[in-house]
Formats: sequence, structure tokens, C-alpha cells
Amino acid sequence: MFDLKSRVAVVTGGSRGIGRASAIALAAQGAHVVVGYASGEAAAQEVAGVISAAGGSAETARLDVSSSDVEKAIAEIAKRHGRLDILVASAGISIDGLLLRLKDDDFNQLFAVNLKGAVYSSRAAIKSMMRARFGRVILLSSVVGEMGNAGQTAYAATKAGLVGVAKSLAREYASRGITVNAIAPGFVETDMTRALTDEQRKGILDAVPVGRIGSAEEIAAGVVYLASEEAGYVTGETLRINGGMYM
Ligand code: NAP
Repeated sequence: MFDLKSRVAVVTGGSRGIGRASAIALAAQGAHVVVGYASGEAAAQEVAGVISAAGGSAETARLDVSSSDVEKAIAEIAKRHGRLDILVASAGISIDGLLLRLKDDDFNQLFAVNLKGAVYSSRAAIKSMMRARFGRVILLSSVVGEMGNAGQTAYAATKAGLVGVAKSLAREYASRGITVNAIAPGFVETDMTRALTDEQRKGILDAVPVGRIGSAEEIAAGVVYLASEEAGYVTGETLRINGGMYM
């Protein structure tokens, strides 16, 4: 598909779901992938194992994005490899609940991981991308950030926020050869959506013209495109991969 040979990619939240599929897809195109995790070290190692077994190159790194310490960890990775070309900020959590029941702690945690975590990761990555005058930053937003969803006010705020982050960073760093884009997936089969009830699933499927939930691999295909040399004229964009749920 696209040639990512000699590229070094960091994927936060690479241990599971969309991050996992993205790590595997980037490696399949030749990138060396750093599979980031917070608590799932074994899962991250499994992903690195899948990549190696397929002839690719990967390592794992604890990258807990809820603290700005993640910046040091990403800087260290960039220094060790002498470059960092691609950042996929897929680390994310969802805590659902109607606004009147939403706890401050939940609100703070969602912002810390989903929004601040992506900004910290971007800051560290962009620092080393600037020197190389090349970079691809891909932030995982959500259809919910664009449409809203009852019971997901705080989650939606973090995901809408990422669109603003992508557009602002795109403007700041376009002249340095760095593109910054968001991907807004619809409902994708991962641990995050596995907890949905049958009734919730039916409600979602009724709203998806394609008539099914998406796969992590379908999101990863968009990640690979945005990470490619060929996507150099795409920046500040939000790529919707949602089965037509929102257009
Ligand atoms: P998932 O399967 O629940 O996986 C979440 C990932 O985030 C895991 O790798 C987890 O790592 C990592 N993570 C959680 N807290 C972290 C922290 N503090 N620091 C670093 N990593 C952390 O989620 P997913 O469905 O793949 O979602 C990936 C991204 O896509 C998220 O940003 C999500 O909001 C977004 N998204 C998902 C969907 C969907 O339908 N699934 C739709 C739209 C957008 P550990 O396991 O190592 O802790």
C-alpha cells in the first residue's frame, strides 16, 4: 500500500483495539513501531510479537499519557532512534454517564488521558519532527465529538477538543513538513465498545448506513494513509471512518 520503510512510529494505546491494529498495519508497511501501553505490558508484548512474527520491527514502551512524564519517555525513544516520524495518539478511555451524574473525578480523568495525553504526546513528538522537517501526527477523535451523544458529554468534549488541537497544530507546523490530522471513527469493535448492551448495539446499527460496526483494521487503514509520504498535502483534516453514521 504505502512505503513506510525507515520510518519510526510511536503508537500510544498500542496494546489494544485501534492502537493495536494501527501498530500492526504501520509495521506491515515497513515502519519500526513502538507499541505504547499504560497497564497492558503483556498485551503490548503480544502486539510486538505479532509484528515480529510477520517479519516486522517493533518494541514496547510504557507510555502512560495521563502524566506529562510521557514527554520524556517519547523524547528518549526519539533520541535512541535518532528520529521519530509518526505519532499515533490512540490512548483513550471512555467513562459514560448522564451529566447530572458525572463525577468530577471522571471528568478530570477523561480530560487527562484523552485530551491532555494527546497534547503531551504531540508536543514531545513534534519537537523531534521539527529537526527532521518531516512528521505525521494522527489523533484519535470520535464521531461522538462531532455528533454528541447522550451520556457522553465529557467524552465528546475531549474528542471534539482533539479536532481543534489537530487544526491548530496543523497550522503551527505545516511549514516544517509536519502534518497533523484527526481520525473520527464511528463505532468500532474493541474492548471499549464490547460493553455495549444488545439494545445499544441495535440503536447504533440503525444509525449506520453500512449496517455494521467497524473493525479496528478499517481505522488502521486510515492511519497508514495519513502516515504516508503521499498524504503530505492533507493536514488539519478529520478523516471520518464511520460507515456513514455522520456525514
Ligand atoms: P481500547 O480497546 O479500550 O484500548 C484503549 C487503549 O488505550 C489501550 O491500549 C490502553 O492501554 C490505552 N490507555 C488507556 N489509558 C491510558 C493511559 N493513561 N496512558 C496510555 N494508554 C492508555 O480502545 P479503542 O477502542 O482501541 O480506542 C482507541 C482510541 O479510539 C481511543 O482514543 C478512543 O476514544 C477512540 N475511539 C474508539 C472508538 C470505538 O468505537 N472503539 C470510536 C471512536 C473513537 P493499556 O491497556 O495498556 O492500559
